[in-house]
Amino acid sequence: MFNKRVLNVKPSATAELIGKVADYKRRGIDVMQFNVGEPDFDTPAHICDEARLALDNGFTRYTAVAGIHELRESIAKKLKNENGIDCAAENVAVTVGGKQAVYNSIIALCNEGDEVIVLTPCWVSYIEMVTLAGAIPVLVETKEEEDFLLNIDNLKKAVTDKTKAIIINTPNNPTGAVYTRASLEELAELAVANNIYVISDEIYEKLLYENGQHHSIASFNEDINKLTLTINGFAKAFAMTGWRIGYVAGDKDLMKQLIKIQGHSTSATNSIAQKAAVAALEGTQEPVAHMVSEYANRREFLFKRLNEMENISCAKATGAFYLVPNISKFFGKSYNEYSINDSFDMADYLLDEAKVAVVPGKAFEMPNNIRIAYSNSLDNIKEGMNRMEEAFGKLK
Ligand code: GLU
Repeated sequence: MFNKRVLNVKPSATAELIGKVADYKRRGIDVMQFNVGEPDFDTPAHICDEARLALDNGFTRYTAVAGIHELRESIAKKLKNENGIDCAAENVAVTVGGKQAVYNSIIALCNEGDEVIVLTPCWVSYIEMVTLAGAIPVLVETKEEEDFLLNIDNLKKAVTDKTKAIIINTPNNPTGAVYTRASLEELAELAVANNIYVISDEIYEKLLYENGQHHSIASFNEDINKLTLTINGFAKAFAMTGWRIGYVAGDKDLMKQLIKIQGHSTSATNSIAQKAAVAALEGTQEPVAHMVSEYANRREFLFKRLNEMENISCAKATGAFYLVPNISKFFGKSYNEYSINDSFDMADYLLDEAKVAVVPGKAFEMPNNIRIAYSNSLDNIKEGMNRMEEAFGKLK
């Protein structure tokens, strides 16, 4: 018999959909892709140049498990200057994408039977990572009618003497919600009072619109800094998804444990990507600003377009590059062989009928919604929304 924990885990809906859409494309079917949270921009040229230089210089060997010192220093400097986190190179480990940073954090912290609070809707992998660690995911819902913001009273009710950690993700995937400073301060107080670790996934920190402002919980005071693992990476802000490079920063002793896990699993991430990442942090930030302003235009269009559609309502989140329209008014409706009873049915229907790929909200514990990533061109968003509206119109 296979490992019970692994058997209990669902496949990643986002990762699976990437494969499914690729199959459609291979068959020559023109799918509008709004499923994966992946910038459609190329990695900025100065970052690619640095990678080429690394190759030309033969920088192609193993590096220290936690990453090259130059990059760890650069990350520590960024966390200090931009996020206000008291941090040095020894507090940082460079990982194989932000995903490994989250996974290693959970594995390093959790014993069998520990509880980990996960705020839902949440990214597809948190719950499964907690399960893989042998810990127990405790789900606390953030509500659509509260703009999916952190509700500290609900969170308090979920804390027990078994609570080991709380995972937060702001700006949030999938909802785009950006937690306020005041709510994060309350969370910090709760965590410190109960000696609970905070795994703070900040991968979308640069993707902010209107009045969205990002706050790093580890910056608030020394006590919460000691209990927080701040996670970030290069994929979303610098359009570097394929480079697989992320990082985690936290207390030195805890980081030693994370680095041990990495030393026995993947070792350091790619040497060339590490050099490129230094250029991303140290070089011009202009390409990031350009990408964010493009996302902002798309967000405006998409928000308006979705809310014009019959039976659809959609909140205007101020972060990340997702909108999550509520599609529950279609539940119970059908067209030909398609009956829409949940968000999975809707995502399948939209892919088959409209050739539009979205992620079913249920995969994020958000049963009444679908997730649309606007990390795609405005032209494709326009075409995709026309197709989607037509398919919605057929449902009776
Ligand atoms: N985090 C992105 C998403 O939610 C990439 C896919 C994944 O790693 O889940 O689409």
